[in-house]
Amino acid sequence: MSAEYGDGTRVVHSVRAAAGEPFLGGPVFASAYHLGGGNAYGRSDNATWQALEGALGALDGGEAVLFPSGMAAISALSRVVLAPGDVVVVPSDGYYLTRTLVAGLPVRVVEAPTVGPYPSFEGVRLVLLETPSNPGMDVCDIAALSAAAHAAGALVAVDNTTATPLGQRPLALGADVVVSSDTKAVAGHSDVLLGHVSTVDAELAARVRAERTTSGAIPGPFEVWLAHRGLGTLDLRLARQAENAAALYAALRGRPEVTGLRWPGAPDDPAFAVASRQMRRFGGVLTFRLRDAAAVADFLSRSALVAASTSFGGLHTTLDRRAQWGDPVPEGLVRLSAGCEDTADLVADVLAAL
Ligand SMILES: *Cc1c(COP(=O)(O)O)cnc(C)c1O
Repeated sequence: MSAEYGDGTRVVHSVRAAAGEPFLGGPVFASAYHLGGGNAYGRSDNATWQALEGALGALDGGEAVLFPSGMAAISALSRVVLAPGDVVVVPSDGYYLTRTLVAGLPVRVVEAPTVGPYPSFEGVRLVLLETPSNPGMDVCDIAALSAAAHAAGALVAVDNTTATPLGQRPLALGADVVVSSDTKAVAGHSDVLLGHVSTVDAELAARVRAERTTSGAIPGPFEVWLAHRGLGTLDLRLARQAENAAALYAALRGRPEVTGLRWPGAPDDPAFAVASRQMRRFGGVLTFRLRDAAAVADFLSRSALVAASTSFGGLHTTLDRRAQWGDPVPEGLVRLSAGCEDTADLVADVLAAL
């Protein structure tokens, strides 16, 4: 599908079957191998992966390689690009398992907060950015940091999970690699775990693909098929989620129970200046703090529409108190993922629960 079409058209038409075939061909889950020709063995490649990789690659502006989860994608990338003794820069406030992952590798890890300041990139092999950061919803300037990293000879990867390829195109902004947990808004229905790596570097994509084949960490075709079916409504879902996030931001702002409210789409948010330059839409994820863990539990018990869930980006509004998972953030900090409910219902429910 031509990049000249709008986002909604592109995701809806990300599968376009030939006459007489279903719009979205069935998953190849019943077949471990194909007789003869390409797609010979299901660990190397198959038609269901190719369909979604084609769609995600076109949206990212690169070549996409699917993995069974976001962490599998990040870990495959780190195995491909990092050698013992290399220096890697990761966000100190990003997805906590990314830090756990690199801490276990024979590399030197330098942590930097998403808003900066960043260290010198001299001697650095990989700069892994995450913007907006999960859970803090801070934003960094992908173009400026990519230029600085490239001047020092470093490779730049961006975790684009929170933004999705419709919210932000890191490869077009100068990054070398995108990593994503498609478990969240990309698949969007809270029914699969999935991830991908995208890059404009064909040689790097081939190495990532070879790593997947060798490691054997491959996604199930049925999960890939479900994610592809979900992708068709990404534009619609993000539009409602962002509308709901904007309304919740306005309703929560100034409430005495709420502090540290963050949503990069709000003009008075510290991230807005950079976010409005590099993001194409802001999505539905907000972060704020209630007094403590008990206040969050009370809020959840009184809400009829907000479910406690550690994932985000789905149809339902969900809330996660991050400190319970060992994320080093304040006890009462929550990440709220606005779903696709009616805006008035959601705002009324959240205000009543507060
Ligand atoms: C969820 C998440 C991951 C990990 O993805 P999984 O699919 O759960 O393995 C990585 N990065 C970010 C920013 C995430 O939110």
